[in-house]
Amino acid sequence: MSKKNSSKEKKPGALLSPKGMRDILHEDFLSYQGFFEKAAEIALYYGFKPIETPILEKEGVFTSGVGLETDIVGKEMYSFSTKGKDRLALRPEGTAGIMRAYLEHGMHSLPQPVMLYYYGPFFRHEKPQKGRAREFFQFGFETIGAAEPIIDALTIKLTHLILEEVGIKNLTILINSIGDSRCRPNYIRELTAYYRKHINKICAHCRMRLKKNPLRLLDCKEAACKELAEKSPDIMGFLCEDCREHFKEVLEYLEIMQIPYFLKHTLVRGIDYYTRTVFEVVSEQEESSAENTKENTETKNTETKPSRESKEKTSAEPMLSLGGGGRYDHLARALGSRRDIPAVGSAIGVDRVLSAPGYSMPRPRIVKKPKIYFIQIGTGAKLKSFTVIEALRKVRIPLMHSINKDKLSVQLGIAERIGIPYIIILGQKEANENAVIVRNMKTRSQETVPIDKLGDYLKKHV
Ligand code: AMP
Repeated sequence: MSKKNSSKEKKPGALLSPKGMRDILHEDFLSYQGFFEKAAEIALYYGFKPIETPILEKEGVFTSGVGLETDIVGKEMYSFSTKGKDRLALRPEGTAGIMRAYLEHGMHSLPQPVMLYYYGPFFRHEKPQKGRAREFFQFGFETIGAAEPIIDALTIKLTHLILEEVGIKNLTILINSIGDSRCRPNYIRELTAYYRKHINKICAHCRMRLKKNPLRLLDCKEAACKELAEKSPDIMGFLCEDCREHFKEVLEYLEIMQIPYFLKHTLVRGIDYYTRTVFEVVSEQEESSAENTKENTETKNTETKPSRESKEKTSAEPMLSLGGGGRYDHLARALGSRRDIPAVGSAIGVDRVLSAPGYSMPRPRIVKKPKIYFIQIGTGAKLKSFTVIEALRKVRIPLMHSINKDKLSVQLGIAERIGIPYIIILGQKEANENAVIVRNMKTRSQETVPIDKLGDYLKKHV
């Protein structure tokens, strides 16, 4: 994961993977697999069930659901017309597709809330750089059909827990409430007035945003705009009674669970469907390892104990955003439901987690690292070789081999090179006796074992 396809530059004209997308090979593959298994296991224990939706969706799922004015849809989405003239898009995020599936399958008639987790590739046409690719992997989960603050807290807890369980240190939650359709307009009015006063200082893009989606001004990464955002009115003073109460309860849960959080009034998360709670999980980084991440943030809570009174502080310490999410009570309606369906979700950026300091890879259960290399010599042995592989599969011991090769020296050479701890040798003599030689490569000791006892022998010794 850390090494890019470095051969790309070396072979002009060759057919290589698309820019910002790459093959996942060898140990990297195991690393992803291990993370997905671990995260899925935790999600299952917390009551979530798996779902897989298509990688392609109708474009409208994202233009209506996520919003045309957002970067991920308006600027970064891969969309195209099919031969049948349908407009489709490669999914840039997971939530809209899950809500589409919830509505399509009438999941409102199931016991609520419906709790779903998913993982897989997502696509955004961004400028590739460290921590930012055009194809990247997310692990996400959504709870649909619940309006209570405890569900927001559960979502944050689970995101935090998964990252903690894979060894990520210095985790903090950045959190904000962006109100709802009743109280947000008042805030937007105030925010617009504030930015109008400073119209000459904001970037051209933000001037557009001021007309179309003023909340997004708080998200701008331009230095001058960031500075203005820091001093902008805080939405906390504008929340209606219900939104304030909701947010207060979410924070209370975080405090009870001792999850460190930090209020960040400029956190709006760039997606139209959010209401009320929005959050990001960040890990404090070494300066060098975070220099290219867009989300370097300025606020940090230096208190270890979470506190609702904790106020924003300015800090130069960079933070790497590993995941985030929020509540999206109006998304269902945007996708065609006749009523709002309250929901909340989160997505973890798996590529970033895997290269984050402290990440300790959970060994995948399905893909096991073989400890045995199987060598066979001669036609008689070749004929018996499948019996040996099958004997090992029955006791769930994976092996490596070069079954097409004949020479002992060649096969031994491979075993030495890969540094495997055990080899099994099946020569002509052993094939006649229905046995194999098991050699410990470290001690160089070896033993002849009948094939029908091989499974038990290996389970005991390897
Ligand atoms: P988002 O869907 O934008 O809220 O992103 C959730 C998480 O996905 C982020 O915190 C990142 O860790 C990760 N992420 C988002 N965009 C990218 C990208 N282009 N490349 C790698 N990871 C990404």
